[in-house]
Amino acid sequence: MCGIVGYIGWREALPILLQGLKRLEYRGYDSAGLALLNGSIISVIKQKGSVSGLEAATVTLPEEMRNATIGIGHTRWATHGEPSDQNAHPFLNASRDIALIHNGIVENFSSLKQELISQGYIFLSETDSEVLVHLIDRIWKSDSRLDLESATRNALRHVDGAYGICVISSREPDKIIIARKGSPLVIGIGTGEYFIASDAAPIVEHTNKVVYLSDGELAVVTRDGYTVKSIENIEQAKIVTELDYSLDKIEKGGFEHFMLKEIFEQPEVMKNVMRGRVNPEKGLIHLGGISEYLDRLKQAKHIVICACGTSWHAALIGKYLIEEFARIKVEVDYASEFRYRNPIVGVDDVVILISQSGETADTLAALHVAKEKGALVMGICNVVGSTIARETLCGMYTHAGPEIGVASTKAFTAQVVMLYMLALSLSKGRTISHDEIALHLRELSCLPEKASRILELDGQIKGIAERFRDANNALYLGRGYNFPVALEGALKLKEISYIHAEGYPAAEMKHGPIALIDKDMPVIFIATHDSTYAKILSNIEEVRSRKGRVIAIANVGDGEVSRLTEDVIFIPSSSAPLSPLLTVIPLQLLAYHSATLRGCNVDRPRNLAKSVTVE
Ligand code: GLU
Repeated sequence: MCGIVGYIGWREALPILLQGLKRLEYRGYDSAGLALLNGSIISVIKQKGSVSGLEAATVTLPEEMRNATIGIGHTRWATHGEPSDQNAHPFLNASRDIALIHNGIVENFSSLKQELISQGYIFLSETDSEVLVHLIDRIWKSDSRLDLESATRNALRHVDGAYGICVISSREPDKIIIARKGSPLVIGIGTGEYFIASDAAPIVEHTNKVVYLSDGELAVVTRDGYTVKSIENIEQAKIVTELDYSLDKIEKGGFEHFMLKEIFEQPEVMKNVMRGRVNPEKGLIHLGGISEYLDRLKQAKHIVICACGTSWHAALIGKYLIEEFARIKVEVDYASEFRYRNPIVGVDDVVILISQSGETADTLAALHVAKEKGALVMGICNVVGSTIARETLCGMYTHAGPEIGVASTKAFTAQVVMLYMLALSLSKGRTISHDEIALHLRELSCLPEKASRILELDGQIKGIAERFRDANNALYLGRGYNFPVALEGALKLKEISYIHAEGYPAAEMKHGPIALIDKDMPVIFIATHDSTYAKILSNIEEVRSRKGRVIAIANVGDGEVSRLTEDVIFIPSSSAPLSPLLTVIPLQLLAYHSATLRGCNVDRPRNLAKSVTVE
């Protein structure tokens, strides 16, 4: 949530900041702002709305500020205070010689604010973030021996909550101070220039060398280098990491939206998740990131998977897979619930944390709870080097490539492929024979080609979306492995088209949702061939009897379903455990087209942001 960008070097900072903010806009887009520092002057320009709006506003900047070679920028996802010009970051102190941007939440801002107001400080915004700049100001002014770095460090000692901050000051005009606790920050290393950002997206076009700041660290970045220290002022040795992604991965590549590009990337993503990990001919799976712990994982008394949003739906499929194949009891928990409810987990248990970004605040907190209770913690993340990936004992990367679309698509399929491979690994030598594993892997390796065939149905799916674009509500029904897919289909539609949608296990329909069905209600059934197929057909009949408008996803050649509705999306068949990887694709496309036909901006859905780094 929220994008932070910073530059210090020899080039003009303004275009670098604007370009960086555009690349980060998927993290938050209700307002944007930047501060430029040139000698003794700081100029701030900020406003409600998009980065392109901000860019247009920068024409008023005087020449000397355009020449500035230090600056910080922010794209906001409001937590405290509505999106407005005043609440946009950066914030200045009264003497306008300190500017600050913040990602996260200052939980004790109210008491800090009261204290500062009683000392004469005047607040111009309703945000929690503004207290930080005044706090640094007060501390710095109170002791002439302090510098910007120590004043910032001392100020942060008073702060509860989460932060990623960048601070500049015209009193020390050749540095940027950054610090993090809970909100990610990366330093990009150039030649005589350094870049700061919330994630690598704005950095890749300048350098592939980065340093990830850890929680509780503060860094001083100058044109000559950077020093990273703990909040206790102890110097930290940092490892320089090489980014392995290129610019084309974070651009739209001819697609109208990132979301559509990412939906179409799924066949390739499935291959990437499996690459080097499975050998279908020989029936072998090797998951390097967990191999050392595999025996302990197999002996788990109990597995808990914690996640949020779309990852939670993948987790639910993971439960079905692990319980069916490996016969280990699995519980799936919302990370936000797990962390606050004193869960029963201990040293014999395994807790798996799933997060695309690896920075999801609640999932990270669940990880800490699980660790404290002695469970073996394992991560499934997409972003390499992310906090959850670093803090778990073992884990696996999904290798889906950067996901920019706010509504997650390819990260979901990558997580499910990963969980499928995990379930098979946990079964190996215990509950499933080698030949069976080989069979499952052969089927898995055919999935990318089947997924490509589903993507060819894009035009038909758009046609269906056209007929249903005016719906106000929708119901998604599936059973077994496709119940979580029904939840995911409904979530996709809600997120980007703002049509109210619910996912249910199809049989549950009779216990409530059936009351909602009338001639205006589209009901989307996942009716692929599995053990509950006949039951699903009866459920479709029940909806038809009440004049509901049925859309069905069925297997190629299914005459029964096409007898019941003309809106059938025929997909290649697969075994039930693999079917979610196919059935979800038409639902992603259906949501995408419904949203674009209604004029919604799918890459920037209302009120949402990528990577939820606040609670
Ligand atoms: N809590 C801050 C605000 O509402 C920062 C939000 C963000 O991370 O974008 O302005």
